Parts: sequence; structure tokens; C-alpha cells
Amino acid sequence: MITTIPHWLLKQAELNPGETAIEMDDGATLSYQELHEKSLQYAAYFEKSGVKKGDHVAVLSSNRIEMPIVIHSLSYIGAVIVLLNTRLTAKELAFQLQDAEAALMVTEPEFHSVAGDAAHRAGLSREKIVEFREIHLEEAQPTHMQTEINLGDLFTIMYTSGTTGNPKGVQLTYGNHWASAVSSALNLSLSPSEKWLVCLPVFHVSGFSALIKNVVYGMPILLMKRFEEKAVINNIRQTGVTMLSAVSVMLQRMMSELGEQQLPDYFRGVLLGGGPAPKPLLEKAKDKKIPVFQTYGMTETASQIVTLNPKDALRKLGSAGKPLSTASLKIDAAMGEVGEIKVKGPMVTTGYYKREEATAEVMSDGWLATGDLGYQDNEGFLHVVDRRKDLIISGGENIYPAEIESVLSGMEGIREAGVTGIKDKKWGQVPVAFIVSDTSGAIREEDVLQFCNSELASYKCPKEIHFVDKLPRNASNKLMRRELLYLRKVDGDKG
Ligand code: ATP
Ligand code: MG
Repeated sequence: MITTIPHWLLKQAELNPGETAIEMDDGATLSYQELHEKSLQYAAYFEKSGVKKGDHVAVLSSNRIEMPIVIHSLSYIGAVIVLLNTRLTAKELAFQLQDAEAALMVTEPEFHSVAGDAAHRAGLSREKIVEFREIHLEEAQPTHMQTEINLGDLFTIMYTSGTTGNPKGVQLTYGNHWASAVSSALNLSLSPSEKWLVCLPVFHVSGFSALIKNVVYGMPILLMKRFEEKAVINNIRQTGVTMLSAVSVMLQRMMSELGEQQLPDYFRGVLLGGGPAPKPLLEKAKDKKIPVFQTYGMTETASQIVTLNPKDALRKLGSAGKPLSTASLKIDAAMGEVGEIKVKGPMVTTGYYKREEATAEVMSDGWLATGDLGYQDNEGFLHVVDRRKDLIISGGENIYPAEIESVLSGMEGIREAGVTGIKDKKWGQVPVAFIVSDTSGAIREEDVLQFCNSELASYKCPKEIHFVDKLPRNASNKLMRRELLYLRKVDGDKG
């Protein structure tokens, strides 16, 4: 059994010192040698500041060039990295700082005030906040450097998005991240000649996993500060980007921006995950010849664990694919029937930090119960249906909000839709829809109802349509269906 490997960045600096590791959209670049040297200098600084192997260090940063450097430097010391979402409030940040027992917080000037407030609430003194600009780089390297990685060591604590409850701190070991990177490469047949565009935040597994692929197999990444459709398209065209990970809204915006234009032939595809992929969106991408590989995963699985293979992408539109080569999948239901999705593999978390009970609830014999519902078709391809907690049961029939949202999002004039259930005397529960119309604002309730009647069985048709300015989303931009009902209360027409 292999338990240690050479440190992945040290290895890349040895194998590919002069190759570009990271490009920023402002033109800054770092070769593997430079990334390694900078990380060593940061590590020396952190060590001098008192950080030791096993300490928990929180990082609150947008996608800046310092972000990968800080991550690798902490790994050179063997510290555990707690990744914080930059959209959280000071109160939410304070909870995570305390919960994860962070001894230090590293951040950027932009978050000076929120970081200070959060640290104060968490009882962390001002000296325990380090801003990038305060890091002095005169030292050469740390005295206790981790030249090897023990795959069993804890590497990161990342919080779940908190879509269905309070965020939970997911522990991921080096082995989890390593298995994720290797399995992804096998699945997508990636090579170092590709370039991966990272516009998803690095504090989420989706963005973080690209940084690991970057050092595990020497594939360059283009790190963008934020998603912006025009800039993403330009970067694909001008810098030879071959792959991109994105969520549905991003793909949607890219397609509107592209209009009748196409992406260059060398662009291999969009890895699409993080939430349901509406069928109309996938069909539009297919028409525009943009290859989309739907992927299913979560913080607990260090990003993707089930992914549609490029060769099946068009044939199996709508499916999230098959488990990666090192992972397994099972559904507690007959073939073709909907049940809870369970997954197993070396990328699956060892559990939630300090939450034995919550961990025991979802883990058994190495299998993780995901809380998501899905089915496998006759060829074994996974179709993710929805979250179990959001299921609506109406007159004994199961209704999946994601299916209705997908239909609604395909209607002309609708920009976004959210669906949830309300209590009903006769049926137990009935679905209601919340709609954000597009800029034309021309859409009417009766048109929506008529459209639903033509596309959905009558028990699935929303019994109320509410037009709203925006949908409730969490710091990860995910739809919080539980909160839709608050919008219903303030809706004047419906009472
Ligand atoms: P919390 O666990 O705190 O409620 P969360 O589940 O939203 O938050 P993440 O780990 O960021 O936190 O998201 C993973 C979830 O996203 C999955 O469990 C699933 O519900 C959803 N998801 C991911 N990929 C897909 C997909 N391809 N299709 C449908 N849903 C997906
Ligand atoms: Mg979850």
C-alpha cells in the first residue's frame, strides 16, 4: 500500500521547472519553479509566524495568484487549510473559524473589514489575521519542510454550501484530493498539453480540484478572478484553453454571448456540475456544438465522482454519466427506479470535522449516502433527479422540483425558476413556482400555466405562479428552495 508520495509541487518543479503552471487573466504567470519558490518563501514566513504541522489555517481569498501559493505553502508546512467562502457574512465566517478551530486567517486587503469583524467574533486576535501584503519574502525556505505527502493526512476542511441545512466542515485528506485528480484525468483523457480555465472560486472543491490537477499532472491553468462571459470566451479563443468547469448559469450566459458564433475546435468541453443541468440548456449547447460533460459530485467527494464521458456526451444528454474509474455507485432501488444515490471511492471524505453523529448518519461501510435522488438507466448511466429533502409528495405521487424548473427554464421569456411545495388540504402538498422573467417582462401567468400543461402531467403543474425579482440563493449561488415560501407571503396578489 502506497502511503507517501513526493510532494506534488516539488515534483513538478523537478520535472517541468520552466513550464507555465499558472496564468492569470491580467497576464501574470508563474512557472512550476516559480510557484515552488514562492510557496517556499510563504511557507518560511508562516513558519516564522508560528504555524506548525497540523495547525488549522483559514484562507479567505478570491481567485488571486496568492491563493495557490498560500495553499501550497501551507501544504509544505503540513498545515490544514480551512477554505472560506468570500461571500459569507462576518457572522457566518466566525462560525466556520470557530468550528474548524482555525489558529490563523490569511486574507486579502479587500476583505480587511469583514475578516477583522469575523476574527473578533470568533475570539481570534488581530495578530492572527495575515493579509497577503504583509507577507515578507526574504527567507528562503521553512526549516521543517514536508518533502513528501502522506496520503492519509488531513489536507483541507471545506464547508458544504448549506443548501439544505447548516454548512458542515468536510474533511478531505491528501489522498482524497489525489484520487480525485487522478480519476478525473483518466476519465477525461487529460494531458499536460491542455489548459484548464478556472473561473469557479478556488474556495469550493470545483475550483480547488483544478489546482490539484495542475500539480498532479503538470497541466497549466488559467485562473480568472471571477466569471465574466465575454472574458471567458476571449480567453478560450486567445489563450488556447481546452477545458473549463462551470455551473449552469455560466454556460447559459456564455451561450447568449456567443449568439451564432462558435468556439474554436481545440476547445474540448465544459465540465458542468454543482447542480441540476436543465435539459433545454443541454440541448442548446448541443445545437451550438459546445461539448458539455455533465458531472455529479459534492464537497464530500472532493468534486466530481460521476461524470459523463466525452464519447457519450451527445448520446446520453441529461445523464451525469458513470462513476469514475476508482469510484462506485449504487441506488437502493430497482434498475430504472428512483432512490437515494450512494457513492464510494478513495475521493470520499473521512467525515465531517468534529461531527461524529452527522458523519455516522451518512457513512456506512465506506458508502456515502448523498441525500440526492437519482436512477440508473439500462446502460448504468446515472440520472440525478433532485435532493431528497426537496421532494414534493402530492396525492401519493412524487414530484421533483428540478424537473419543473427545467421545463420552466426552457420557456421563452423566463430567466430563472424555483419550485417548492406548499401544504394542500386535498393533495397533501402541491407545487408552486417562482419566476424571474427576462428583460422583456412580457410573460403572463396564463401563458406559463398553458406551457406547463403542454409539457407536464397535470399533478406536476404549479398551482401558483409568482413573479419575483430574484430567487433566494446562498453564498454558493445555489437556489435555497426552503426560502421560496417567504417570497409567497410578501406576494400581494396571492396573500
Ligand atoms: P449542503 O450539503 O450544505 O446542503 P450542498 O449540498 O449544496 O450544501 P455542495 O457540496 O456544494 O453543497 O453541493 C453538492 C450538491 O450539489 C449535490 O449533493 C447535489 O445535490 C448537487 N449537484 C451536484 N452535481 C449535480 C448534478 N450533476 N445534478 C444535480 N445536482 C447536482
Ligand atoms: Mg450536500
